Amino acid sequence: MIGCSIAYHLTQLGWRDVLLLERKQLTAGTTWHAAGLVEAGGFFDATKIEMAKYTRELYQSLEGETGQSTGYNPVGYLEFACSPSRLEGLRRVADFDRGFGVYVEQLSPAEVKNKWPLAHTEDILAGFFTPGDGRVNPIDVTMALAKGARMGGAQIVEEVEVTGIKQDKGRVCGVITDQGEIEAEYVVNCAGIWAHEIGKLAGVNVPLQAAEHYYLITEPIDGIHGELPVLVDLDRYAYYREETGGVLLGLFEPVAEPWGLDGIPKDFSFGEITPNWDRMMPYIEAAMQRIPVLENAGIHKLFCGPESFTPDLEPMMGQAPELDNYYVAAGFNSLGILLGGGAGRVMAQWITDGTPDVDVTEIDISRMLPFQNNPGYLKDRTVEMLGFMFEDPYPNRIFESARGARKSAFHDRLAAAGAYFSTYAGWEYPAWFAPKGIEPKVEYSWGRQNWFEYSAAEHRAAREGVTLMDYSVMGKILLQGGDAEKVLNRICANNVAVPEGRTVYTQWLNKHGRIEADLTVTRLAEDQYLILTGDGTITQVQAWLRRNTPPDSNTTFTNITSAYSVLNIQGPKSRDFLSRVTHADLSNNAFPFLTSQEIDIGYATVRAIRVTYVGELGWELYIPTEFSLHVFDMLVEASQDMDLKHIGLQALDTLRLEKAYRDYGNDIDNMDTPLEVGLSFFVDFDKPGGFIGRQALLKHKEVGLKYRLVQFLLDDPEPLLYYGEPIFRDGERVGYIMSGGYGHTLGGSVGVGPVENEDGIATPDYIHSGTYEIEVAGERYPARASLKPMYDPKLLRVRV
Ligand SMILES: Cc1cc2nc3c(=O)[nH]c(=O)nc-3n(C[C@H](O)[C@H](O)[C@H](O)COP(=O)(O)OP(=O)(O)OC[C@H]3O[C@@H](n4cnc5c(N)ncnc54)[C@H](O)[C@@H]3O)c2cc1C
Repeated sequence: MIGCSIAYHLTQLGWRDVLLLERKQLTAGTTWHAAGLVEAGGFFDATKIEMAKYTRELYQSLEGETGQSTGYNPVGYLEFACSPSRLEGLRRVADFDRGFGVYVEQLSPAEVKNKWPLAHTEDILAGFFTPGDGRVNPIDVTMALAKGARMGGAQIVEEVEVTGIKQDKGRVCGVITDQGEIEAEYVVNCAGIWAHEIGKLAGVNVPLQAAEHYYLITEPIDGIHGELPVLVDLDRYAYYREETGGVLLGLFEPVAEPWGLDGIPKDFSFGEITPNWDRMMPYIEAAMQRIPVLENAGIHKLFCGPESFTPDLEPMMGQAPELDNYYVAAGFNSLGILLGGGAGRVMAQWITDGTPDVDVTEIDISRMLPFQNNPGYLKDRTVEMLGFMFEDPYPNRIFESARGARKSAFHDRLAAAGAYFSTYAGWEYPAWFAPKGIEPKVEYSWGRQNWFEYSAAEHRAAREGVTLMDYSVMGKILLQGGDAEKVLNRICANNVAVPEGRTVYTQWLNKHGRIEADLTVTRLAEDQYLILTGDGTITQVQAWLRRNTPPDSNTTFTNITSAYSVLNIQGPKSRDFLSRVTHADLSNNAFPFLTSQEIDIGYATVRAIRVTYVGELGWELYIPTEFSLHVFDMLVEASQDMDLKHIGLQALDTLRLEKAYRDYGNDIDNMDTPLEVGLSFFVDFDKPGGFIGRQALLKHKEVGLKYRLVQFLLDDPEPLLYYGEPIFRDGERVGYIMSGGYGHTLGGSVGVGPVENEDGIATPDYIHSGTYEIEVAGERYPARASLKPMYDPKLLRVRV
């Protein structure tokens, strides 16, 4: 499916020398047995909904173009809620989807019954119906794409197995097959469950794991017919659709079974896995209760096939960070048919232009870290993945499996202080701290979760006192060499030709002027820079640095993340507090904002950087790892009469949202330029030598901006903003909240989101002249909008 879609879309962009190799026959891997569900409704992120929507449209038009039917049948897709929290979740998702032109209709229980008369509906509170969704025949879809690709000039050759990848100087240059070698300028690994092994042939990490995936097909049943919508019972991890007059009951069980742990069998083709009835029976029985006639229906078949799952349930797409021109499109987490059309389009565009045309921060393969390719990690994580797709998408929900391996040096101290650990890039990361005597455990909901007040106290402490946060999850890259300044200044949009000890906030832009990275750079010496970025983006940042360093330059860079622990001391009393433990002069004159010095703390020499992501006076301390606990203990001891408060990720997020500091991958991404998202101040258009993306950025400036990233504060202090809530300007939908949280200082929910002017240019006047409302679970609430941070717009608290 995916290979054919990419080949088809490459030919659509004008490529003629496209070759698709298939080791057996088309569809012989996972595609042939997919259930063929096609849905655009139900997605809660922009990229996937765009891909799914495009796919749906493509499957309708392909027959006209190729003469090959896809079997598209728009019977509709019907989800429903049986609990208030599920209802709120589905409402929020439906609000979001409508903004993308995917109409989702809310139905009463009686209307649900009407659409699926044989379903038990007594416990249903509401249904959510997406009319254009439905089903296709995956084999027909693949054949239609293959035909379209051939019509566009592509060649598809079956019974040829790729056995090796050829590369030269960090760039792919062909493949080795069981029938000889083929030169190729680009290679795309779209080998489904085999993609992990094909990746290894070239030293490319493709972290995915196959797992068993089931559906049961019954004999024909009276009252079941082909026009019934696909019915999805999220709470029973099940979906139901018609299949040759019977029911196809598909399962997404909460405890899945990884498959092929010793490798995928060589001869696996149009293969099936022997079903494990004992394991699946409890789920089947529970699902049958929804359609009671199933309990007496004859079983035609319990089918089990392998599908690949990734560690975060997002596909692996894009250029491999390890090897130039080697692309990957795999790991579709049981959505390969319904995302496949869009995925092919995005990949073709990415290969052709070198940059994608959608936000890829969640699907780009370079978000992955090497440890995530380990067999033990993949096996343990995969168990959770199938069921997770059917869980309530509660805010801040995290994976519970494959945890506890990546801990900072402070972990046990923080656990003793009551930390509830969330996870980021595999790190166990305190999200908040429970007061003494209270177990640090989350009770998920859409309302104020049980830790709301604990985090509020942490937030206030950062505004009023002094706080300590484990910040070891910062990814750290040391760039060294005589050409370091020259190389880095070409990559950074801001000017990093600064004196030693200066810290610069900057974006890295691509040739279109769009943001590839958002980070700080500290000059340590004439020929040394410390690059700091969230560890979740470190693979991508290193790949960008490597790809944009001229081969003959005198520079080298090293990932030194593990060499330093980091403690972040923030709050108006942080100077008074830190002065207790160091001989260094921390006054504003001696240690100004955005500068860095080595300072003493106890017996340790640590690098202190005066910087903030919360909007207060503060320092980040980069501590050689072996001194971590010594420094931590010194700080805690020195704080006895000062109430140094531990704070976690949740407080960090609400603090930075009040200050409207940007978060790459959430409120900004690879589709934004610094101009739209309020970061123009950090672009130095006039620096000698320019920077990558400068010309394009100047052009954007000249043309004017269609949208701007705006900060919002709800007037009503009750509703909560998280993500995806639609923004209305003068009653017209103009965007949605990219990230939201509770502004404990501002006194209401605060969020950032783009406001688009469909008619033209979104000037500051346009932004400020509107009246705004934000829709939360179906209700609209008045909101204040601002292009300047609502908290401390003049940086008075930061530069003291
Ligand atoms: C039971 C079940 C139900 C599903 N239902 C749905 C659904 O309703 N909707 C949906 O969207 N998705 C569904 N899926 C998921 C969907 O089937 C997959 O995501 C999709 O088929 C993946 O397509 P692919 O092209 O990546 O992989 P594949 O179809 O596996 O294609 C990869 C191809 O690479 C070939 N290959 C491997 N190694 C080599 C080599 N060395 N050289 C040459 N060729 C090679 C293989 O032979 C194979 O044909 C379902 C999956 C299962 C298991």
